[in-house]
Amino acid sequence: MSASSSAVLPASTDVLLIGYGPVGACIAALLGRYGVSTLVIDRLSEILLIPRAIALDNEALRVLQMAGLEEDAFARIAIPEVRMHSPWLGQFARANTAGSIDGHPRLVTFYQPELEQALRRKVAEWPSVQFCSGLQLVDLKQDADGVTAEVQDAAGVQHEVRCNYLVGADGASSKVRNLIGQDFQGTTYSEDWLIVDASQREGKAIDHIEFICDPRRPAPHMPAPGGRERWEFMLQPGEQAAQMEQPEQLAALLGRWIKPEELHIERQAVYRFHARCCDSFQQGRVFLAGDAAHITPPFVGQGLVAGLRDAANLCWKLAWVSKGWAAPAILASYDTERRPHARKMIAMAKQMGHLIMPRSILRSLLIHGLMRLMGLVPPLRAIFEELQIKPANRFVQGLFAKGRMTGGQLAQGLVRPTAGSIVLSDQVLCDQLSLIGFGVDPQALLDEPERASWRARGGQFIQVGLRGQQASGSSTFVEDMSDALVPAIKPGQVAVVRPDRVIMHAGPVGQAAQMVRECLALLD
Ligand SMILES: Cc1cc2nc3c(=O)[nH]c(=O)nc-3n(C[C@H](O)[C@H](O)[C@H](O)COP(=O)(O)OP(=O)(O)OC[C@H]3O[C@@H](n4cnc5c(N)ncnc54)[C@H](O)[C@@H]3O)c2cc1C
Repeated sequence: MSASSSAVLPASTDVLLIGYGPVGACIAALLGRYGVSTLVIDRLSEILLIPRAIALDNEALRVLQMAGLEEDAFARIAIPEVRMHSPWLGQFARANTAGSIDGHPRLVTFYQPELEQALRRKVAEWPSVQFCSGLQLVDLKQDADGVTAEVQDAAGVQHEVRCNYLVGADGASSKVRNLIGQDFQGTTYSEDWLIVDASQREGKAIDHIEFICDPRRPAPHMPAPGGRERWEFMLQPGEQAAQMEQPEQLAALLGRWIKPEELHIERQAVYRFHARCCDSFQQGRVFLAGDAAHITPPFVGQGLVAGLRDAANLCWKLAWVSKGWAAPAILASYDTERRPHARKMIAMAKQMGHLIMPRSILRSLLIHGLMRLMGLVPPLRAIFEELQIKPANRFVQGLFAKGRMTGGQLAQGLVRPTAGSIVLSDQVLCDQLSLIGFGVDPQALLDEPERASWRARGGQFIQVGLRGQQASGSSTFVEDMSDALVPAIKPGQVAVVRPDRVIMHAGPVGQAAQMVRECLALLD
């Protein structure tokens, strides 16, 4: 990838990506991996340094793995638990975030600019992706064959770029969203919060996340890599950003945790948190992703996470269409699959805000008292403590055959390839559509024309064996070292797994050929 100005702006590209924030960078990294010709533009050249996302879950980390980021590409702190404190009742609830799911910690904190740098470094490895900074989208027009975008450079000169598909990852005030008539409708939940990141907190910061649930001034608080610690304070009616960001005000707010002489403020900002989702993530050849499509209060750390899920879902579909392996009709499944889940996450974030941080003392005593009582009953406690309230990342409708196993993601575990060292299983699935035989060689279940038509659509064959089993055919063989994959789908079963790890089809070996035919038909 090259970073350049409008002087080398190409006249046409397959995908024009507007916005090079974290979601745009993840999309660019994925499209680069798939080899799709992509032009990324952003009105800025630099990464924003303002305090924004700080927490990512295992699903987000798995998408970043798909985008090619190594585990050490950016620093992270694994968070073992989230504690909720009431000024009157003490700790009234906790969420257990220790351990890992699908090979990644359940919850980490990180430093957003460092993640964005890591993504941009990854994008730079792909020759099919070009980044031009200092350009902003001002208009777009669609016709039957493509999209024409008007982009303006810093000198005010307008340029035309023609593309097959345009993706708006241009943030909460998205111009793309505005141009396709999808502006966020209706009233919005809106609260002002002061975000403060302190530095030089090595050895002093807490090791978990805590929510100080005081209705007079709710304040979540958490550690972050690089010796940072963050506090978020809800503003009261009448409080102004300029006044709240004054050094003496910050020192007073943080006085409970840090002595004024030890206080080093790295950055602070007042935000108005909203909860909005547009009515469609697609119009014709134009798609919305990340904050351009949905915004949420950050109480459950899901804004960026939702954008990364968008990226994983959309990019392989664009790639398959661009390579001629799938019909453009499959692109409609991006909205069908992603929008309901994004809405559920927004609803959960609002609900959590109301539960954890009610605005009156009476309500907080009632709700937090009730939550404390619920904590005494194990099945009720698990709803909150084991994050059962988090909407499952499983689709009801979309680009998959209906079935008990389909529409959700295949688990990720540790596998050992033949004559290789142990790796996470997504490394083996890589960027392809996989026909996986569990305990069986999937190639042996198809005849040669079926195998050829599968390969011709970006398909590969993988045999997953139980620990200690040997390869029994010519498919790529891996041994399931953590028993994560085989229990998910029983031995003697076959599954079709999309490049975003969603199970597209699953069934007994006898149905393998039919399953392949049905999946190819879904791509037509
Ligand atoms: C205080 C705070 C805490 C948060 N905490 C979390 C958290 O813990 N976990 C989490 O998952 N999320 C969190 N979020 C949300 C997260 O930060 C956002 O969801 C994420 O940064 C959005 O990324 P994006 O790439 O969609 O948009 P942005 O980062 O806004 O990027 C949009 C890009 O588009 C460019 N652009 C805009 N218009 C144009 C145009 N017309 N032409 C060209 N370029 C354009 C902009 O310059 C920008 O670079 C938090 C947010 C805030 C404010």
